[in-house]
Amino acid sequence: MKLHEFQAKELFRTHGIPVQNGVIIERPDQIEGLTLRYPVVLKAQVLVGGRGKAGGIKLAQTPAEARDRASAILGMSIKGEPVRRLLVAEAVNIGAEYYLAFIVDRSTRGLTAIASAAGGVDIEEVARTAPEKIARESVDPFLGFPGFQARGLGRKLGLEGQLLKDFVAIATALYRLCQAEDAELAEINPLGVVAGRLLAVDAKVIIDDNAVFRHKDLPRNEELTDLEREAKGAGLSYVELDGDIAIIGNGAGLVMSTLDMVAHFGGAPANFLDVGGGASEENMRQAITIVTRKPGVRALLVNIFGGITRCDDIARAIAATPPPLPMVVRLTGTNEDEGRTILRAAGYDAFIEPEEAVRRAVALARGRA
Ligand code: GDP
Ligand code: MN
Repeated sequence: MKLHEFQAKELFRTHGIPVQNGVIIERPDQIEGLTLRYPVVLKAQVLVGGRGKAGGIKLAQTPAEARDRASAILGMSIKGEPVRRLLVAEAVNIGAEYYLAFIVDRSTRGLTAIASAAGGVDIEEVARTAPEKIARESVDPFLGFPGFQARGLGRKLGLEGQLLKDFVAIATALYRLCQAEDAELAEINPLGVVAGRLLAVDAKVIIDDNAVFRHKDLPRNEELTDLEREAKGAGLSYVELDGDIAIIGNGAGLVMSTLDMVAHFGGAPANFLDVGGGASEENMRQAITIVTRKPGVRALLVNIFGGITRCDDIARAIAATPPPLPMVVRLTGTNEDEGRTILRAAGYDAFIEPEEAVRRAVALARGRA
C-alpha cells in the first residue's frame, strides 16, 4: 500500500527525520487561514511519481498567488489520478540534492540501502546512465543498520562534517521506520541540503500489503484508478500499466504469458484484463470498452484460448462492440470455427498462433502495420 507524501512525512516526523512544516488542504480558500511562513510550496498529493515534471508542484510567494496555484493544481489529473489534496509546506532553498532509500531486495532476502549524490531526478534514469553514482549497502536483518554502515554509505556520497552526521541519523531512522512500519520501500528524493543541514524534501513509503493489517493506525489508501474501480465493480480483474497495447485474455496464466510475449517482441502493455474462465458475451463487451478507454492506448490485443469460454461468444461481443482502435485477435478452442465466421463477417481476421498475433499488435501500436 502506497502512502501519500504527507502521510509518509507524518511517519518521518514520528521517527525523527526532519521535514518542512506543512498543512494539508482540499480547497483553495483554506489557504487564507494558514499560519505558514511564505514562500510556500504547493504539492499535489497523488500516488504516482514525477509530480514536479507534471506541473503538480509549484512555489507561491504570497497567499493570493498560493490560492491561484492551488486552484490550478486541485483541478489537475496527474497520470490519470485526480488531485484531491494539496500539501502546503514552507518552501526551503535547496542546495545539493541527494537520494536515499531502503528497499526490499529479494536477492539478499532483506533490505538494501541505496544512496546517491545525484538525487532530485528519477533514480532509474541515474541507474541507467551513470550506475557508478549509486551506492548500496545490504542490511543484515540480525545486525540491523548500524551507525558505521550508515557512515560508510554517507562517505561514498562525499559527505563529511555536519552533513555526514545528519545523514547517519536520517539513514538509521529511515531503517527503523521500515522495521517498525513493515515498509517494503522508504525513499527520500530529494534529501536536500538546506542551510547546511539535511532535510527530507520528499517522502515515499510503501507498506507491505501482507502486513497492513498489523498497522491499524496507518491510513488506508485506495490505489485504484477510475477504470480499475469501474472494472472491479463489474467483477472484472483489470490492471493498468504504462505502455500502449491494451490486452484482453481469458485466464491469469494466459494473460501473464501474453504480457511476457508483448515485452519479448518489443511492445509495452497499457493494461490487461482477464475476462476469466467462463467469460460471457456481456463480460467481453465490458472488457473491450474498459481497456480501450485508457488514454494512450494504440492497439488492442485479444488472446482467447476457448475452453469453458466459447469463441463464438467472444466473437459476437467483438462484432457488437467494435473497438475504436486497431485490433488483433487470437482465437482458438471451443467453437473456434463459429467464432472465426462471425469475426470475418464483421471484417476481422483471427490468428491461431499467439506469437503472430502479438507481433502484429506490436507493429500496429508502433504505427508500422
Ligand atoms: P516529485 O516530483 O513527485 O518527486 O516531487 P518532489 O517533492 O521531489 O519535488 C520535485 C522537485 O521540486 C524537487 O526535486 C525540488 O527541486 C522542487 N521542490 C520541492 N519542494 C521545494 C521547496 O520547498 N523549495 C524549492 N526551491 N524547491 C522545491
Ligand atoms: Mn521526489
